[in-house]
Amino acid sequence: MAYIPVKRPKFSILDRIYVVELVRGLGITLKHLVLSLLGKSRSKKDFNGAGIGACMPFPEQRWDDHLPSYYRGAPALVRGEDGRERCVSCQLCEFICPARAIRVVPGSVAPGSSCSKQEKAPAEFEIDMLRCIYCGMCQEVCPEQAIFLSQQYLITPTDRKQAVRNKEQLYRLGGIRKGLIHKWNQFK
Ligand code: SF4
Ligand code: SF4
Repeated sequence: MAYIPVKRPKFSILDRIYVVELVRGLGITLKHLVLSLLGKSRSKKDFNGAGIGACMPFPEQRWDDHLPSYYRGAPALVRGEDGRERCVSCQLCEFICPARAIRVVPGSVAPGSSCSKQEKAPAEFEIDMLRCIYCGMCQEVCPEQAIFLSQQYLITPTDRKQAVRNKEQLYRLGGIRKGLIHKWNQFK
C-alpha cells in the first residue's frame, strides 16, 4: 500500500497569535446572537424553528422532518431481505465500542434455518443507551453490515433497565435493509 505524505500546514504570524483567532471566534458567536435576536437564525430557515437561537417548541414541533440524511441517532440491528439476521455475533462491535455499551452473547444457528451456513448468531444482543455516545464505530467495524445508526433521537427511558435495549428492540428499530449498503463512503 502506498503512503501519501501529508504536509503539515504552516502557521502565519496571525495564526500564532492566538488572540486574533479567539476574537474571530467571538465574532462568529456574536453574529449568531444578533441573527437569533432578529429572528433570522439558521434554525428558523432550515428546521422550521421558532427563530430564537436553535430552539424549537418541543414536543409540539419536532426535528423529524428536518434531520439531515447524515444524522446519526440510536444504533439498531438490521435483517436481510429474507428476514435473516445479518449479525453473526462476531463481537467486533462489542470489542471496538469505546463506551462499552454493547453486550453480545453468541449462540448457535438453528439447524435447517436459511442461515445454517453461519457459524453463530446472537443469542443475546444488548446496547446500553445510557453509555452509547453515537460514535458509529460499531457501524464502521461490522463486517456484515448488521448494525447501523438510525435516525432515532428520542431516547427517554424512565429507569436504567429500560435504557438497555435488547435484541428484539434493536431489530424492531432497524427493520429490513436491502442489498449491500455503502456506509459513509459510497465508493467502498
Ligand atoms: S453487529 Fe456486526 S460486528 Fe456486531 S457482532 Fe454482529 S456481525 Fe459482529
Ligand atoms: S455508536 Fe459507538 S458508543 Fe454507541 S454502541 Fe456503537 S460503538 Fe458503542
